[in-house]
Amino acid sequence: MHIDVDEPDARNLFWEGMRDVADAAARHQDQALYQAIVKIGRAALAQGVELVPSGGLFLQCPICDALPGQLCINVAGHPLGDRECHPERVELAAKTLSGEAPLPPPLR
Ligand SMILES: [Zn+2]
Repeated sequence: MHIDVDEPDARNLFWEGMRDVADAAARHQDQALYQAIVKIGRAALAQGVELVPSGGLFLQCPICDALPGQLCINVAGHPLGDRECHPERVELAAKTLSGEAPLPPPLR
Protein backbone atom coordinates (compact mmCIF):
# COMPACT_ATOMS: atom_id res chain seq x y z
CA MET A 1 0.00 0.00 0.00
CA HIS A 2 1.29 3.42 -0.93
CA ILE A 3 0.99 6.16 1.66
CA ASP A 4 1.64 9.70 0.52
CA VAL A 5 3.24 11.45 3.48
CA ASP A 6 2.57 14.79 1.81
CA GLU A 7 -1.12 14.06 1.51
CA PRO A 8 -2.50 17.56 2.14
CA ASP A 9 -5.81 16.20 3.34
CA ALA A 10 -4.30 13.71 5.79
CA ARG A 11 -5.30 15.67 8.87
CA ASN A 12 -8.91 15.90 7.74
CA LEU A 13 -8.90 12.23 6.82
CA PHE A 14 -7.57 11.31 10.24
CA TRP A 15 -10.31 13.18 12.13
CA GLU A 16 -12.89 11.93 9.66
CA GLY A 17 -11.77 8.42 10.58
CA MET A 18 -12.16 9.24 14.27
CA ARG A 19 -15.67 10.40 13.54
CA ASP A 20 -16.46 7.17 11.67
CA VAL A 21 -15.28 5.12 14.65
CA ALA A 22 -17.34 7.28 17.01
CA ASP A 23 -20.36 6.77 14.79
CA ALA A 24 -19.87 3.00 14.96
CA ALA A 25 -19.27 3.15 18.72
CA ALA A 26 -22.51 5.09 19.24
CA ARG A 27 -24.48 2.79 16.96
CA HIS A 28 -23.28 -0.36 18.68
CA GLN A 29 -22.91 1.17 22.16
CA ASP A 30 -19.38 -0.18 22.11
CA GLN A 31 -17.33 0.99 25.09
CA ALA A 32 -14.15 -0.60 23.74
CA LEU A 33 -14.43 1.51 20.58
CA TYR A 34 -14.82 4.68 22.64
CA GLN A 35 -11.68 3.79 24.56
CA ALA A 36 -9.87 3.15 21.29
CA ILE A 37 -10.89 6.63 20.10
CA VAL A 38 -9.35 8.22 23.18
CA LYS A 39 -6.19 6.16 22.81
CA ILE A 40 -5.80 6.97 19.11
CA GLY A 41 -6.63 10.64 19.60
CA ARG A 42 -4.12 11.09 22.40
CA ALA A 43 -1.38 9.36 20.42
CA ALA A 44 -2.19 11.50 17.38
CA LEU A 45 -1.98 14.78 19.29
CA ALA A 46 1.27 13.61 20.89
CA GLN A 47 2.60 12.97 17.38
CA GLY A 48 1.68 16.49 16.30
CA VAL A 49 -1.53 15.79 14.41
CA GLU A 50 -3.49 19.02 14.77
CA LEU A 51 -7.20 19.24 15.36
CA VAL A 52 -9.30 20.49 12.46
CA PRO A 53 -12.59 22.44 12.69
CA SER A 54 -14.49 19.17 12.36
CA GLY A 55 -12.17 17.41 14.82
CA GLY A 56 -14.66 17.36 17.66
CA LEU A 57 -17.14 15.04 16.04
CA PHE A 58 -16.00 12.02 18.02
CA LEU A 59 -17.46 13.31 21.27
CA GLN A 60 -20.84 14.58 22.35
CA CYS A 61 -21.31 18.30 21.72
CA PRO A 62 -21.57 20.38 24.92
CA ILE A 63 -23.65 22.98 23.05
CA CYS A 64 -26.22 21.08 20.97
CA ASP A 65 -25.88 17.56 22.49
CA ALA A 66 -25.13 15.98 19.10
CA LEU A 67 -23.99 12.42 19.79
CA PRO A 68 -20.52 11.09 18.94
CA GLY A 69 -20.25 10.76 15.17
CA GLN A 70 -23.19 13.07 14.49
CA LEU A 71 -22.91 16.54 13.00
CA CYS A 72 -23.86 19.52 15.16
CA ILE A 73 -27.21 21.23 14.75
CA ASN A 74 -28.09 24.90 15.05
CA VAL A 75 -29.28 25.95 18.49
CA ALA A 76 -30.39 29.38 19.69
CA GLY A 77 -27.39 31.59 20.37
CA HIS A 78 -24.95 29.16 18.74
CA PRO A 79 -25.33 29.41 14.97
CA LEU A 80 -23.18 26.94 13.07
CA GLY A 81 -22.75 28.86 9.85
CA ASP A 82 -21.02 26.54 7.39
CA ARG A 83 -19.19 24.61 10.13
CA GLU A 84 -19.81 20.93 10.81
CA CYS A 85 -19.50 21.28 14.54
CA HIS A 86 -19.49 23.91 17.26
CA PRO A 87 -16.08 25.41 18.10
CA GLU A 88 -16.74 24.57 21.76
CA ARG A 89 -16.88 20.90 20.78
CA VAL A 90 -13.49 21.09 19.10
CA GLU A 91 -12.09 22.92 22.13
CA LEU A 92 -13.49 20.22 24.40
CA ALA A 93 -11.90 17.58 22.19
CA ALA A 94 -8.50 19.24 22.51
CA LYS A 95 -8.83 19.62 26.28
CA THR A 96 -10.03 16.10 26.97
CA LEU A 97 -7.43 14.47 24.75
CA SER A 98 -4.63 16.51 26.31
CA GLY A 99 -5.88 15.66 29.80
CA GLU A 100 -6.77 19.29 30.70
CA ALA A 101 -10.41 18.33 31.11
CA PRO A 102 -12.01 15.06 32.19
CA LEU A 103 -13.42 12.83 29.47
CA PRO A 104 -17.17 13.27 29.04
CA PRO A 105 -19.40 10.21 28.86
CA PRO A 106 -19.54 7.96 26.91
CA LEU A 107 -15.80 8.27 26.31
CA ARG A 108 -14.68 7.46 29.84
ZN1 LIG B 1 -22.86 21.22 18.61
